[in-house]
Amino acid sequence: MVNWSELAAGRTARLKPSAIREILKLTQRGDVISFAGGLPAPELFPVNAIRSAAERVLRDHGSAALQYSTTEGHPPLREWVASRYAGVGAEAVQIVSGSQQGLDLVAKCYLDPGDAVAVAAPTYPGALRAFDAYEVRYREVEIDDDGLVPASLQHALDDGVKLIYVIANFDNPTGVSLSLPRRHAVVDLARRYGVPIFEDNPYGDLRFEGHDLPHLLDLAPELVIHAGTFSKIMVPGFRLAWLVAPAEAMEPIRKAKQAADLHTSTFVQYVALEVARDGFLDERVTVVREHYRGRRDLMLGALERCLGEGFRWTRPAGGMFVWISVPDGLDTTVLAKDAVQAGVAYVPGEAFYGTGRGTDGLRLSYSVATPEQIDSGIARLAAILNGTTPP
Ligand code: PMP
Repeated sequence: MVNWSELAAGRTARLKPSAIREILKLTQRGDVISFAGGLPAPELFPVNAIRSAAERVLRDHGSAALQYSTTEGHPPLREWVASRYAGVGAEAVQIVSGSQQGLDLVAKCYLDPGDAVAVAAPTYPGALRAFDAYEVRYREVEIDDDGLVPASLQHALDDGVKLIYVIANFDNPTGVSLSLPRRHAVVDLARRYGVPIFEDNPYGDLRFEGHDLPHLLDLAPELVIHAGTFSKIMVPGFRLAWLVAPAEAMEPIRKAKQAADLHTSTFVQYVALEVARDGFLDERVTVVREHYRGRRDLMLGALERCLGEGFRWTRPAGGMFVWISVPDGLDTTVLAKDAVQAGVAYVPGEAFYGTGRGTDGLRLSYSVATPEQIDSGIARLAAILNGTTPP
């Protein structure tokens, strides 16, 4: 008999199931309105465009699109990605199987056991789970309505940090964006301390208001590894994303990618490019943005109407998430069970910290809820939070 648990490598002790997926299981009950998942709205998927693109690809490039291909990615797709950034050439682009793979590869190449990563508190748990496997430590950095707080980042850097993880646009989970002065402050600090930045940008195209701000990549191309993805603007099921980084930084990443999966699906790269071509995707993104903007407005309106004194919440200018801070004495982990009983689900703040903090916050997503669900779901949630009888 083989004892698998004794045989498991030491690093597996760090692997945890996603807390969000555990909550999503509870919400399978038909009558629960879920603001917990961060899934893109499926009615926005360009199914017909993907069907005809796949047909064209098979007709015109059948054998190439179904063959093994280069680790770097399909050259015209790399060009398409590069054209979306100022001053970036196709050779700086590495196609990856989801930004999640980008996180894993970068951690594999740049983090040794015991190294510290500066992360916002709270931050995206998928990044923590990817980094965990490499046995790293976290230095938490405070975040407010303008994003990472530079003084707090400096404090972390003073303690020794190997990598800074930043979601500058419409953060997951808080919905906030890094202001322009703070973008400069963050790259100035990174430069001063000689520490690279992983800029994770899955939501940057989903801006509802205001103007696009420069990426950290634009401000400091020499020290930023930037990740973008098709997940929120096309479909997440393609598992198709990209990294942009300086040639020297990319070298080990490319080797690690080759060792991990040789290359990202050739067929998916061809089809995504075929869909993206000729401006179709840009038109589509306008529709996607409008859809989420409408849902955000409804959710902010419902929160305004329903939540009592002492609650604070963010007002995202894009993306999919609102973060609620609850008054002292409430514990969002404990209340999550009552909320599911009352027919509404959210993700407790604890899921977004590396250190067990976070019971004073929670994340809501407005991405998949219908207008009716937003109205009645927020009324149910408010009853649980305000301590009144659910409707
Ligand atoms: N980073 C962040 C901040 C995310 O919110 C997500 C998706 N939830 C990802 C990365 C993973 O994206 P992808 O589908 O490209 O792997």
